[in-house]
Amino acid sequence: MKAGLTPRRDLEPSVAVPPTVRASLSPSRAADFKTCPLLYRFRSIDRLPERPTPEQARGTLVHAVLERLFDLPAAARTPQSAGDLVAPQWDRLVTEQPELGTLFAEGDIAGVDGFLRSAAALLEGYFAVEDPRRLEPAEREALISAVVDDELLIRGYLDRLDVAPDGALRVVDYKTGGAPREAFEARALFQLKFYALVLWRTRGVVPRVLRLLYLKDAEVCDYSPDAEELLRFERTVVALWQAIEQATERQDFRPRPSRLCDWCSHQAFCPSFGGTPPPFPAAGAGDPLVDARSRPVAPGADE
Ligand code: SF4
Repeated sequence: MKAGLTPRRDLEPSVAVPPTVRASLSPSRAADFKTCPLLYRFRSIDRLPERPTPEQARGTLVHAVLERLFDLPAAARTPQSAGDLVAPQWDRLVTEQPELGTLFAEGDIAGVDGFLRSAAALLEGYFAVEDPRRLEPAEREALISAVVDDELLIRGYLDRLDVAPDGALRVVDYKTGGAPREAFEARALFQLKFYALVLWRTRGVVPRVLRLLYLKDAEVCDYSPDAEELLRFERTVVALWQAIEQATERQDFRPRPSRLCDWCSHQAFCPSFGGTPPPFPAAGAGDPLVDARSRPVAPGADE
């Protein structure tokens, strides 16, 4: 560990934080604030519960299958193997996150079957755009973090990182949502630039490719950032954090209605939909270094 770094027991064990750091931000929470400040408040400050939707659960399941797929020897990473992983991974997820089990009524075997089939269909979309037998990801579901502006820890889980023999980095993000892509593309790109910034700051390499894999449409969207762009992006992230701090101080998080409201779980509390937010929590945002994990993926959240 470098001198001056303090391990934080409330974060993942590998995360060491310089003493100057006083806040953390994940791409999901940053994107929340950018999308709608009130949504940020509901999720990060009020921490209002969100019941998982089938789309979110399907996204979590497909991500889990794709992660495990690469545990298999290269030659065994076939559509059949991926399909075989669906049910066991669902069982594992339901055991670890019992709230997922509440998506289906007890005994609703047809509902669960249909759900598992829809996940398998998304995996077919994956195989239409990539051949995992030809890939050896350097990292999967990896937590990455960097400090920017001395005070802000930015961190998140990337789906996959590929490293070419010449050291070039490719960040890959799986998108499983069925929502119209144009409503979410800016958010998805924001998230990928976030990861690119972390990698650049920690490894000194600007990722050559940021890749979005849209499984439902079996489409690939590649983007190549450059250092100048990431420098501007870094300033944007810092400014965003300053705006969050200011809003927290003033307890002033305004709704910003958009098409994404259709995927918001908190319309009942939102003035734009006739609701009233709960009283601002007396303890404020709590420990700013304890931030929600940047996933699970969800339409309107990370999807
Ligand atoms: S319903 Fe729309 S405006 Fe209201 S909090 Fe959710 S995203 Fe924001």
